[in-house]
Amino acid sequence: MSQLRRGEFEIIDRIKGRCATSPAVRLGIGDDCAMLQLPPGEMLLTTTDMLVEDVHFRRAWTGMESLGKKSAAVNLSDLAAMGAVPKALFLALAVPEDLSAQEIDRFFDGFLEVCHASGAVLAGGDTCASMGGLSISVTALGSASEKNVLRRSGARSGDSIYVTGCLGDSGLALQCLLAGRQVPPGALGRHLEPAARVSIGQALAEAGIATAMIDISDGLLADLGHILAASSVGGLVNIDTLPLSAEMQSAVAADRAVFEQALIGGEDYELLFTAASGSEQDIVQIAGLCQLPITRIGVIDGSPGAIELRDKGQPSPLPRNRGYKHFSDGA
Ligand code: ADP
Ligand code: MG
Repeated sequence: MSQLRRGEFEIIDRIKGRCATSPAVRLGIGDDCAMLQLPPGEMLLTTTDMLVEDVHFRRAWTGMESLGKKSAAVNLSDLAAMGAVPKALFLALAVPEDLSAQEIDRFFDGFLEVCHASGAVLAGGDTCASMGGLSISVTALGSASEKNVLRRSGARSGDSIYVTGCLGDSGLALQCLLAGRQVPPGALGRHLEPAARVSIGQALAEAGIATAMIDISDGLLADLGHILAASSVGGLVNIDTLPLSAEMQSAVAADRAVFEQALIGGEDYELLFTAASGSEQDIVQIAGLCQLPITRIGVIDGSPGAIELRDKGQPSPLPRNRGYKHFSDGA
């Protein structure tokens, strides 16, 4: 047996004892397949996201515990975006030689904390050596009844556009990291350990008031663009109403160009959704129950796929660059 195989089994043994159990996972880590059971009549929702060293993260900028949390959260965020209830996560790791057992343990501290907090369990994966950087691939499985599932394609003309939480903090943090500037601590926390909006996503789906939903991983404009394209509608966004944290507000006050992070900055993992007018009271109630602000930022209107921006009622130009590209701007 090579060093690598021995290391692989050690890692599996270490994590096996730390995984929670759940009625949905009838058989978890330890056999050739996991065996899952869904609630009767529910659909299985599945999503995969990779985090690759020096593409999605830099080891110099993140602790391993944060990286574990983020790896789970970015996948749970996709389940949240469709209103699914998380059931199981699968984790494939390519581990470089210079990553210590302690660092791997820290990664699992974070990963399992976020996984268990969502109600999911780690039900399997794969582990191998990497001759390059650390590579993490997570698959998340959730369930929902078909009638509750929130797709990108349901937005209708006249619907309001809403967003949870605040925008731009993660982009602000990345911008500071790339420039070697001091990062506002709250923004850094949101960049390194984003929260998946799982309970509010479920609440919106169950209430049946949202018409379309997506999580903001590539930036507000890029992800709104996905809803508009899938729904064949246009969108008008009042940029003076975008929710900004206190740190974003002071960064924008010091340099107006930072405002662009609320429009095109990636990795906020907030939920962006549309709802018919008349749902405002229900939305206020859900925001209260989930203790997360929800802000109305615009309306579905205009020609299919097109985004129009207004600032205090006046037309405002679209930023030239609309998408989020990890480290492409400077790294
Ligand atoms: P096989 O060779 O049959 O694919 P493995 O030896 O790769 O089996 O894995 C043994 C068990 O450990 C399986 O249940 C697998 O899902 C689990 N496993 C392996 N790596 C991980 C990991 N990184 N996270 C969670 N479970 C893992
Ligand atoms: Mg295997």
